[in-house]
Formats: sequence, structure tokens, C-alpha cells
Amino acid sequence: MLRVVLLGPPGAGKGTQAKRLGEAFGAEHISSGEIFRANVQEGTELGRMAKTYMDVGDLVPDDVTTRMVVEALSRARGGYLLDGFPRTIPQAEALERELNDRGEPLSAVLAFVLDLEIAVKRIAGRRTCSACGRPDNVEFDPPKVPGRCDACGGTLEQRSDDEEGPVRRRLEVYRESTEPLLKFYSERGMLREIDADGSEDEVFERASAALADLRGGASSAEASRGARP
Ligand code: AMP
Repeated sequence: MLRVVLLGPPGAGKGTQAKRLGEAFGAEHISSGEIFRANVQEGTELGRMAKTYMDVGDLVPDDVTTRMVVEALSRARGGYLLDGFPRTIPQAEALERELNDRGEPLSAVLAFVLDLEIAVKRIAGRRTCSACGRPDNVEFDPPKVPGRCDACGGTLEQRSDDEEGPVRRRLEVYRESTEPLLKFYSERGMLREIDADGSEDEVFERASAALADLRGGASSAEASRGARP
């Protein structure tokens, strides 16, 4: 069973890849950012609290975030891909304790490696369809009709924290709080680096080869056809 953390700076394509990899490998995609955004949309107390941090590109406090993700993990039936968590050393330590208690340690950590300059450019072009949720990039893969989703024709929207001010802060937070996790997991022999510079398909091939290797042998082509763990 795959229990994997995806690490990388904002804009590295973790979310897009996590969705595709989750489908290909039959693992649940658990995104802390998406759980927060869903709570913001539903207007829950958690959402209202989280929004004050998200709007400016800061991290939501560790205890709240960890509790929320551990709950989501408890509901996951099979394997999972954790996208956006952990983001700090205390979160990583809490996750490690929780998984050790369960006797279900992580299989590995995939680190998406990307130059921060490229990450900034990608984020500037990033849009999401308000109707079907499909990610798009107006810089790298412009939609056929400007402002409209290629898949369903819905309106493409920019995340408010993808605007310039919050993005600058998110990159700063990444460098200060999240980058140290590379060393944390490398010391534990768990880190696998994925070159995230390339097309979505190229990065998917690299990441799925790494997951197939972890799972023991199935080729990435088999995984793409939807083989189960
Ligand atoms: P993301 O979609 O992963 O880029 O997350 C969007 C925002 O949600 C982040 O900028 C944070 O404000 C918040 N967030 C998501 N995951 C975490 C986390 N593990 N710890 C703290 N805040 C988080």
C-alpha cells in the first residue's frame, strides 16, 4: 500500500500530479489546501479561521492543521498521497508519531524539485475551472477560448492567494518552514527527488516511475491504465 508525502514549492505541480497519480495508483489524494478551501467555501468555523492565514500566504497553525489531516488519514481506506502536508518540522514530527502508533510508516517522500523562478511564472498563469475544478495554465497551455475551460466551457478563475503579494509570502514561508523537511526526510532515507521542470506528462512519467518502483515493479504504463496497489 502506498503511503506517500509529496513535497515541493508552490507552483511545482504537486496538486495536478497528485490528482493524476492518485487515480493511476488507486491511492487517495489528500490535499490540506483543498480541505481548507472547501471549509472556506462552506463557511465553517475552521474555514473562517484558516482564511485569515491563507489570504496573506501564511501557514495555518500546526495543531489545527495536523488534527484536520490526521482525521482525513483515518478515513482513507487504501493508500494515500499527502499533498501540502507536512509543511513544517512540527507537522512532520506529529505525522511520524501518529503513523508509528498505527504501525503504518510512510512508504516514501517524493520531492518535486523546481527552480523558484520557474515556480513563480507557473503560479502567475495558474487558473482553475470554477465549474469542473480542472487546473489550467494560461502561460504554458492557454485555453482555446480565453477565460474558458477546455473541458467544460466553465469560467477559469485565479486563486486569490496566487496573486503577487501572497505568492511572494508563500515562497518565503516555503524556504523558511518547508524546505528543512528535505533534510528531515533525507536523514530518514525516505526522500526521492523528482525533476519537476518539464511538461505535465513528463513529470507524471517521472513520478509514476518512482511510485511504481516503490510499489514493486509495475511499469508506469500499467499504472497509467489504473492498476490497483
Ligand atoms: P496549498 O493549496 O497546498 O497551496 O495550500 C493553500 C494554503 O492553505 C497555504 O498557503 C496555507 O495557508 C494553507 N495550508 C495548506 N496546507 C497547510 C499546512 N500543511 N500547514 C499550514 N497551512 C497549510
